[in-house]
Amino acid sequence: MNPKIILFDIDNTLLYTGGAGTLSMKRTFFDLFGIDDGFVGMDFSGLTDSAIFREAMTNNSIEGDFTDLFPRFKTAYRQHLPVLLPEFRTEGSGKIMPGVKELLDSIWQRPEFLLGLATGNIREGAALKLDFYSLSHYFRDGGFGDDAEERSEVVAIAIERLANLLNASSTDDGKSEVYVIGDTPRDVQAAKANDAIAVGVATGRYSEEELRADGADLTLPDLSCSEPLLRRLQTD
Ligand SMILES: [Mg+2]
Repeated sequence: MNPKIILFDIDNTLLYTGGAGTLSMKRTFFDLFGIDDGFVGMDFSGLTDSAIFREAMTNNSIEGDFTDLFPRFKTAYRQHLPVLLPEFRTEGSGKIMPGVKELLDSIWQRPEFLLGLATGNIREGAALKLDFYSLSHYFRDGGFGDDAEERSEVVAIAIERLANLLNASSTDDGKSEVYVIGDTPRDVQAAKANDAIAVGVATGRYSEEELRADGADLTLPDLSCSEPLLRRLQTD
């Protein structure tokens, strides 16, 4: 049987930057357009970075072509993030979420699982955050916020990349079962759009009840309570 593909969201699922990510976005927007808070009133939960940037461009009536401006946004953002990540951890707000390392340590080297990312972060932003919190080594590849603006497409790309890794090392071309683990209704909806099993973790702004109402197959208060997930991973 093919290994199961397990895709993790980053922000509020694996870690919380303490606000370093949001402030990096704001400073980047200021660098590009001289606008102090380009994201006022916006809720980033579950949105891709590219979708956030496009919405902010619209909200602030920015003239110009998204496809020209988004690369400039990425260049500036990756300057700010490495400066701000340590500042917010020192303040005590940036952290790895409860149970994350224990869960990842228990599954990442098992041949029946393949771990990846399905995140709204651009690839470089994801790498900076995961490197900073020493979590990068668990994940083989993923889908990112500069692959697509729609989260369901990000998940589809992640599945394709992980499946390609499997196909390169296996003669079994059967489909893998896919799990998507995230903290927002958008993670859940993106999982369902790809026929994946949606695991909702209530470490962001949404409760288990809300995530279940959006269609999560399984919910957890946080990843330190991952026994039901491990049971399901082993029995399905
Ligand atoms: Mg999240």
